[in-house]
Formats: sequence, C-alpha cells, structure tokens
Amino acid sequence: MIMTAAQAEHADVIVVGAGPGGSAAAYHLARTGLDVVLLEKTSFPREKVCGDGLTPRAVRSLIEMGIDTGSDPAGEPGGHLDERATGDGSGWARNRGLRIVGGRVRLELPWPELANWPDYGLVRPRLDFDELLARHAEKAGARLREQTAVTGPILDERTGRVIGVRAKTGRGGDPLRFHAPLVIAADGNSARMALSVGIRRREDRPLGVAVRRYYRSPRTHDDFLESHLELWEGAPGASRLLPGYGWIFGVGDGTSNVGLGLLNTTTAFQNTDYKDLLRRWLGGLPPDWGYTEENATGPVRGGALPMAFNRAPHYRDGLLLVGDAGGVVNPFNGEGIAYAMESGRLAAEVAVQALARSHGLSRERALQAYPHVLRQRYGGYYTLGRVFVQLIGNPTVMRTATRYGLPRPTLMRFTLKLLANLTDPRGGDALDRLINAMSRLAPAA
Ligand SMILES: Cc1cc2nc3c(=O)[nH]c(=O)nc-3n(C[C@H](O)[C@H](O)[C@H](O)COP(=O)(O)OP(=O)(O)OC[C@H]3O[C@@H](n4cnc5c(N)ncnc54)[C@H](O)[C@@H]3O)c2cc1C
Repeated sequence: MIMTAAQAEHADVIVVGAGPGGSAAAYHLARTGLDVVLLEKTSFPREKVCGDGLTPRAVRSLIEMGIDTGSDPAGEPGGHLDERATGDGSGWARNRGLRIVGGRVRLELPWPELANWPDYGLVRPRLDFDELLARHAEKAGARLREQTAVTGPILDERTGRVIGVRAKTGRGGDPLRFHAPLVIAADGNSARMALSVGIRRREDRPLGVAVRRYYRSPRTHDDFLESHLELWEGAPGASRLLPGYGWIFGVGDGTSNVGLGLLNTTTAFQNTDYKDLLRRWLGGLPPDWGYTEENATGPVRGGALPMAFNRAPHYRDGLLLVGDAGGVVNPFNGEGIAYAMESGRLAAEVAVQALARSHGLSRERALQAYPHVLRQRYGGYYTLGRVFVQLIGNPTVMRTATRYGLPRPTLMRFTLKLLANLTDPRGGDALDRLINAMSRLAPAA
C-alpha cells in the first residue's frame, strides 16, 4: 500500500523492532487476536552481531512459541551423541552443555536435568534466526513492515502519552504515521524510543562490549558451548594474560562463532582495541582449530550488551520496554536473547490484560504492573549479578576463582546453574534451592 504523509495506520499495539524481543512480543499479542504492527528498519535476512548461542532458557521460549528446533540426532535410531551439533539440516546446531576453560583446566558441564527447562541448547546465526522469528510472528497474524524505520513517538498533546510512532520507509523515505493505544519498544540497545520519552541509561548498571567473527573451522560441530574465563596471548600461564572473556561456539555449518567481551567494571574497558585483542587471543590458540585470517568468512564486528536493567522504568506513558531496549541482558553470562523473548512475552501478557480494560485509570494500573513483573522475575538475580560483575572485574579474584573453583565439580555445577539462570522453582535439588533463596533474599535490582 502506498501511503501519503496525511495517512495514518491504526493498530491495537505497535511493536518497534523485529529482533527476538519484538518478534516474541508481536507473536504472543497476535495469538490473542489483537491487531499488531511490527516495524523493522532493516529487511530480512539481516545480520545482527551476536555470539548466536542459545541456552536451554532460550530454547524454552522458542518451544513456547511453537518453533520447531529440529530433532535430536542422539534420540534417533542410529544417531550418535557426537552428531548432535551437526543438527538435522534444519539450521539448528544442538549443544548439550557448557565447556568452561580457564588456563589449562577444561571442564565439561552438561546442561542440568530439570523439570522447568529443556536439556539442550542451540546455536543458530542471527542472520536467519531473527527472520525465522519475525516470519513466525507474521504467520500468527502480526503485520510485519520491513524497511520501516521509526523516527520518534507521536505524543498526545494534552497528556504527553505515547499514542503512536512516526516512521519512514527505507526506499522513498516517505513519512508514515502509526497510531495505537500502546507501543512496545524493542529497538535494541540504541533505545531510540525510550530516549524519546526521557528514559536514559543507568550509569550504575553493568554494560558489556563484545566482538565476534566467523571462521571456517573443524570445530564447527562442537556439541558444547565453550567459554574461556581467561584469555592468554600464548601458552596458558606462560604468556601475557589479556583482559576479557571469550567464547567459541560451533555453528554446525562449517564455521565457528568466536568472540570476546569486556565489562565496564574492568579497568581495560575504556581504552581497548577489541579487534587487536581478538587477534592476539586467537593467535595463541591451537593452529588446527583454524581461527586464522585466511579462514575468516567476514569482518570482526562488535556491539554493546546492556545488562541488569540498565534502563528503567520499563513502562512510562503508554510505552513498554522489551529486551536490550530495557537493558535486560543477564549480567552473569551476557545472554540476551532469552531475556528479550521472555520480556517480550511478559509485555504482551500485560498489554493484553490492559487493553481488555476501559481507557483510563484501570488500564493504567494494569500497565504499571509490567515493571513489577520484571523485577519480581529477575530483580534479585540481577542484584546478585551486579555483585558478581564487580568481583570478576578484579583480576585477582577471577584468577583465584578459576584456579580453585574449576577443579571442584559440585561448585561448578552450582556455578553453571547460577550463571545460566537454570533452576527449578519448585522441587529442585539443593543447588536450585540455594540459588532461588539467594535470588529471593537479594533486594530487587
Ligand atoms: C558481540 C555480541 C555477542 C552476543 N552473544 C550473545 C549470545 O551468544 N547469546 C545471547 O543470548 N545473547 C548474545 N548477545 C546479546 C543479544 O544479541 C541481545 O541481547 C539480543 O539481540 C537482544 O534482542 P532485542 O530483540 O532486544 O534487540 P535486537 O536484537 O538488537 O533487535 C532490535 C531490532 O530493532 C530494530 N530497530 C532498531 N531501531 C529501530 C527503529 N528506529 N525502527 C525500526 N526498527 C528498529 C533493529 O534493526 C533490530 O532488528 C550478544 C551481543 C553482542 C553484541
């Protein structure tokens, strides 16, 4: 449809941004029969800088949305465990746990067996992962508009409430107007919508910066996500210790996604040449892993990880914040996709309830619940995460933890559950109960 500046489209809810947070929100809204417009400034398929790693927490959200994550080769007749990461041709590479590498110590920790969470993770490049989610929301009824960049909110002159958005299309740059009683901002770390209503970044909350690159590698079928707690320029213990943490994720398509990140609690955060850091770390890894310039399939790219509610409040004047726009990345492990999809679903649930009420105070009360729901779910855990981030910002603490913690299996099983936020809320084991109690007792972030 060709629209002129005077025309406006109407919907029940506008979702800005079709990353995992926006697509999940749009999917759950559309499923209830609401009229949802999902506005995305790029067109699919499009790249998004990411490690592409999905823990069982993210897999649960995908299953909830009815997304087929492929079959488990190990469960098929004739299948083998070591085929898992090859996936089944569906584009998913399965993994069965986290391998933690600290210096010369390597520890493989299978994902925990829990009632609440699946026992496998996945890797899938964001190049088609995000498109898959956006098309899934579209199939559920959401009206997806690609090449539609939101330029700002439309405010009610009298109340200052967000009642829509202005946008322009990629090609002609035509001005568009979309009206709805509710807008969900899922526009990622740029957080343009939040900023436009004065919701700024909290400087007292952790922020990460990370870079990644794809390399052709014989490790492409690795069925563990690999996390490096220490980055050595050469041989572990006998070379220079570099700042940051690294990952190596087998993508299952002939490549590995390899990257590293730093937190703003580290002194090196400000003046680091990330590309050079990656080059130096990879230069010290075994050459047969293939992480060399010749095997790179694209450039080094980077981005920010807004953590532990680094933008709040999550609701104001008709605008709900979801995913990176609300800074919901897990500070323990830098995982953001699961939290974007979960906050998308929670925002959708609140929106559905609110829109069923009459305009005015009653509806507003329903919307005000959203920040409380988020705080209830993640607040205590994120407070613990902020302490954790402060501690690991100190190299001495980190070295001591790696040296004395890694060789202790029970402690590491506890660490895995804590880092990946994977516990059973009821009926779990002693480790689950301990983590749940710690999260409950910590003041909500
Ligand atoms: C290097 C790196 C590695 C990472 N690795 C992992 C990992 O392995 N696992 C993990 O779980 N998380 C990882 N993360 C974090 C993860 O990428 C994010 O938390 C996640 O993408 C957040 O999803 P989102 O939907 O909130 O935002 P995004 O994925 O950023 O999506 C936002 C969408 O909004 C669109 N948009 C923006 N502005 C506008 C506008 N004005 N109008 C219309 N559309 C707009 C964008 O084009 C985009 O499609 C990593 C991050 C980085 C930087």
